[in-house]
Amino acid sequence: MASVFSSKQFHDEDEAFAYVEARLWPNGPVCPHCGGVERISKMHGQSTRKGLYKCYQCRKPFTVRMGTLFESSKLPLHVWLAAIYLISGSKKGISSHQLARTFGITVKSAWFLSHRIREAMREDDLTPFGEGGGAVEVDETYIGRKAGTALPKGGWGHKMTVLGLIDRSTGKSRFFHVDGGKEIQGIVLENLSREARLMTDEHVMYRRIGREFAEHGAVRHYNKEYVRGDVTTNTIEGAFSIFKRGMRGVYQHCAEKHLHRYLAEFEFRYSHREATGSDDTARADKLLSGIIGKRLTYETTAARA
Ligand SMILES: [Zn+2]
Repeated sequence: MASVFSSKQFHDEDEAFAYVEARLWPNGPVCPHCGGVERISKMHGQSTRKGLYKCYQCRKPFTVRMGTLFESSKLPLHVWLAAIYLISGSKKGISSHQLARTFGITVKSAWFLSHRIREAMREDDLTPFGEGGGAVEVDETYIGRKAGTALPKGGWGHKMTVLGLIDRSTGKSRFFHVDGGKEIQGIVLENLSREARLMTDEHVMYRRIGREFAEHGAVRHYNKEYVRGDVTTNTIEGAFSIFKRGMRGVYQHCAEKHLHRYLAEFEFRYSHREATGSDDTARADKLLSGIIGKRLTYETTAARA
């Protein structure tokens, strides 16, 4: 990690701009105001902002940050790139305090930076899990404490519920912060192909929706049964335990309203882990494309200008 982390775009602002421009504009600069690709000049000069271009079609200046999530902060682009690399590569996540120390920025800036990056981790992929008859493990877990609840008197009522799905063939995962059984049933029905082989524990809420799928295998945890043939929820339980370790160690005080962001971060990292063929650089580039991809439309940008 150290050798890759020494790449120039993580330290040098000109290199950082060149790195992002090469990805956003593979065929040369595009004006975010009018969409023009011709009659664009790079601005030079001592007092000129880094990466500044001028479009002579609409006569407006722009940079590669404009209209992307990069626009949401004034932090240098090389800090963004280094933070993307660190966050996408760390196994358990990185706290805002640690980011602040690493880059010499305020904790508040680091907090905004990491939440913007988590926003870019949200993948709006709606492909159903278990297509072609693949196995999908579904389970729920309980973490932290809901806002406004009293100290625990046992049971799980005071905790936040997280639903997890793993497509065993692709290794992809999806995690949701949910309220209860009805919502869980709805999400499972929405995210799984009807050809899927559903794998759950014996919880009664899975029994009825189980009939909707090609097959439903339920392990009987109450009878200490964890594997029966290939019926098991061990993969999703393993993913939950990594998530919980991260939440305990790094994100101790996760407010309920931010839980979905941490879930998006974990889901991204889990779905692009090494076992699925991603290395640190590939994962960081995937995340960078998420930041660029969350572009505001030309109309919104123009309306604000
Ligand atoms: Zn223009």
